[in-house]
Amino acid sequence: MDQQQILLASRNKQKLKELIACLQGIDATVLTLDHVKTAPEVVEDRETFQENATKKATEIARATGMLTVADDSGLVVEALQGRPGVRSSRYAGDNATDKENNEKLLREMAKVPEEFRGATFVCAVAVADASGLIGVVEASCEGKIATEEKGSQGFGYDPLFIKSGYNKTFAELGPDIKNRVSHRFRAMEKAALLIERRLTERESRG
Ligand code: IMP
Repeated sequence: MDQQQILLASRNKQKLKELIACLQGIDATVLTLDHVKTAPEVVEDRETFQENATKKATEIARATGMLTVADDSGLVVEALQGRPGVRSSRYAGDNATDKENNEKLLREMAKVPEEFRGATFVCAVAVADASGLIGVVEASCEGKIATEEKGSQGFGYDPLFIKSGYNKTFAELGPDIKNRVSHRFRAMEKAALLIERRLTERESRG
């Protein structure tokens, strides 16, 4: 039987790197939207991470016929009543850069003292195939918002996020540590079980 395939439904290069690292133990060829031209653009217009991940995975799986994995993630900041939340990538505007989003977050948090700077990274991962949703899982990572950007690795809010138990930002810690403790890694651990089960079912059907 040909090697099975998984489609990662993201165009964010940094996110893809992290998702691919999480799938290393899975015996399948991992493709991205750059390889699959039939995938539609999906508008992320839902109110929760799980709903957005589910919408992305199911629409793309239906259009491509492939086993599809979609991540929707973001930063939930206590002092900002949960913002930027599902709007994390467009916090400072529709085409905002990571730098603009980080600067806006720092401005909004300028007067917030250390003890109220708590924040949570959340990641929902949905797995779907052409017949619909297989499952959606979620994980989070607690920490706080730094008072200035630090570090040059990672993406998004990594230069501002200090995970509980650490004294450096994700952007300073780098991928070896981030990919063992992040919200995305923990969500993908759960999603991997769904993926493996589906690949095994397919294999036994031949
Ligand atoms: P999505 O592509 O709609 O899921 O956008 C997720 C956005 O949330 C990213 O563009 C980042 O701004 C932020 N985000 C999610 N996960 C991470 C992470 O691991 N590090 C830094 N920022 C993240």
